[in-house]
Amino acid sequence: MLRLTEIKLPLNHAEDELRAAVLAKLGIKPAELIDFSVFQRAYDARKKANILQVYSLDCEVRNEAALLKRFANDRNVQPTPDMAYRFVAQAPANIPKRPLVVGFGPCGLFAALVLAQMGFRPIVLERGKAVRERTKDTWGLWRKRELNPDSNVQFGEGGAGTFSDGKLYSQIRDPRFLGRKVIKEFVEAGAPEEIAYVSKPHIGTFRLVSMIEQMREKIIALGGEIRFNSRVQDLILEPAGDDPRQIRGVVLADGSTIESDHVVLALGHSARDTFEMLHGHGVFMEAKPFSVGFRIEHPQSVIDAARFGPSAGHPILGAADYKLVHHASNGRTVYSFCMCPGGTVVAATSEEGRVVTNGMSQYSRNERNANSGFVVGIDPKDYPGGVLAGIEFQRQLEARAFVVGGSNYNAPAQLVGDFLEGRASTDAGSVTPSYTPGVTWTDLAQTLPAYAIEAMREAIPAFDRQIKGYSMADAVLTGVETRTSAPLRITRGKENYQSLNVRGLFPAGEGAGYAGGILSAGVDGIEVAEAVALAMTGAQA
Ligand code: FAD
Repeated sequence: MLRLTEIKLPLNHAEDELRAAVLAKLGIKPAELIDFSVFQRAYDARKKANILQVYSLDCEVRNEAALLKRFANDRNVQPTPDMAYRFVAQAPANIPKRPLVVGFGPCGLFAALVLAQMGFRPIVLERGKAVRERTKDTWGLWRKRELNPDSNVQFGEGGAGTFSDGKLYSQIRDPRFLGRKVIKEFVEAGAPEEIAYVSKPHIGTFRLVSMIEQMREKIIALGGEIRFNSRVQDLILEPAGDDPRQIRGVVLADGSTIESDHVVLALGHSARDTFEMLHGHGVFMEAKPFSVGFRIEHPQSVIDAARFGPSAGHPILGAADYKLVHHASNGRTVYSFCMCPGGTVVAATSEEGRVVTNGMSQYSRNERNANSGFVVGIDPKDYPGGVLAGIEFQRQLEARAFVVGGSNYNAPAQLVGDFLEGRASTDAGSVTPSYTPGVTWTDLAQTLPAYAIEAMREAIPAFDRQIKGYSMADAVLTGVETRTSAPLRITRGKENYQSLNVRGLFPAGEGAGYAGGILSAGVDGIEVAEAVALAMTGAQA
């Protein structure tokens, strides 16, 4: 099979033009092309008047060797790589102690699935509830201002990305094509098939819920077990005082214990109590940079027009997204984060008395507003005080936003025009904020450090030069966005994926600092499952 890349055709091309383009590119007769399929479809919207579709195609041809020779110097004609996933181990008949997976977000989900597929019958421990019950609790905050600290946007079956846009792309290096395994499993669980070939796939929150249920059933059918309402509160480590120590099991919040010598920690970035517990045990961790800021909302039509001009609304293009970066003169980097076209801003706190923003959308992405994080990079030197100081810094900002918002889970909000002018807003303009339970109009400058506000004020006009309308006076800022990634990393070995000072403990996913987003968390889960399997079969120290 040959893979042809960078095959460009007009946005409105006829279907048979694709075949003609393959024949033209390879310079072959129709009879020599046995078949072809689309591996990936992207678009190039740099010229709004001439938006192109850009294809990667897998082609079955009669004279492959000769063609490869002829195109030896053309990087757009290559043999199709082998992307099949192969398991690294198979569980022995009798496993003395089953592996544990703590957390059932995308990382824990894929760690558990792959362990189950290899026959290791993992036990998953998830502090939150099953996804349907969790959905009710999440709506409890959005509609009734009632937060359940163990069942919310961050915690519960499916993890942090369940109420999201379900974007499934990532910039990680993926030489083993593990991302394809993630996508394939999602499609088998009911995701739209197009996620396998569009360049920026998304699922939307609605479908994620039923997909996660399907995947849970698959793990159970393979001998795995999922225990909800099971918060891991402590680790059993032995021998005390030794370095490195060996994990022997975990203690749950109800006081019960589960023995295991192999524990995957797929906690997510909001498991602050668990990070504190790990720190108390001296598990190696280090502070790491993360970002803070606001959500920004514009009419989706403004973003579509800015990106697609006369082709705005074309079904192939869908609702437009953007990705923006500005290096401010005070040395700070400001960027757009987790953009949700046609979506809503959501209340995303997991702790009482705090306000946190994030965004989600449905598969159709047809809500009136586009939203994205508008955030500033910060560094451990901005919050000195050790490994847990980043958590404290996040908490302070979130608690401040809660108070400025009115101490009732309203989020503080401001119009972009007022933000740039440095005056408090008093009401919405033409853009209706989507955040529920509601917003309180104010001056957002009081919710973040001065250096962040300064850099953001500088970035807005710079972003407007790339997305016309970004700086529109009525665009809405809602704060604060603090859970962009974990403020710490639980360090692990490059080869064996185990904690540097606790044998058998496998830090994984976003909470441990090894992923950022659903796809990369799933990929990390697969890699960690493989490391566990190799350790359990004695193939790795
Ligand atoms: P998580 O998904 O956070 O899962 C961790 C799990 O561990 C949770 O279920 C938690 O309850 C559980 N847990 C924590 N502590 C314990 C404990 N002590 N005992 C037992 N269980 C515990 N990413 C994208 O790629 N695309 C998007 O469109 C997108 N949108 C998002 C929208 C929102 C609103 C949010 C909040 C996030 C979004 N993200 C998105 C980010 C994405 O969700 C995360 O990167 C991803 O979920 C990280 O996966 P994870 O498995 O490492 O951690």
